[in-house]
Amino acid sequence: MRCPSCGHTGMINKVVEERLSYGGKSMTLHEMNGQFCSHCGEGIWDEESYRRYAEAQEGLVRAVKGEPGADIRRIRKKLKVTQAELALAFGIGKVAFSRYERGETRPSAPLVKLLKLIDRHPDLLDEMQNM
Ligand SMILES: [Zn+2]
Repeated sequence: MRCPSCGHTGMINKVVEERLSYGGKSMTLHEMNGQFCSHCGEGIWDEESYRRYAEAQEGLVRAVKGEPGADIRRIRKKLKVTQAELALAFGIGKVAFSRYERGETRPSAPLVKLLKLIDRHPDLLDEMQNM
């Protein structure tokens, strides 16, 4: 097998530890299998290791960013408004919050920020409803 990066022939099967980090959190994956280039160090995970790598990466991002759906539901309950009422205040579609809370759609970053702001200053919601 040829190295996809430098073209060197002589990829070596290796079992390694892979360290992942994201947003100040990190984790180590053990017994990761792949083919590694002896010349430039480029590596290709086998299917199973790649799946584990992708899952871990996704989990890490989720751990850092949090689950927005659960957060949104908590804030909405605290504000004592329905999904439709909140959507109206935000000027977005009626079913949007239902989708966010069920994790079907990922809310945009500005929406999450605005909601967190309202969480800290609930009276802002009244103002939004009158805009
Ligand atoms: Zn190489």
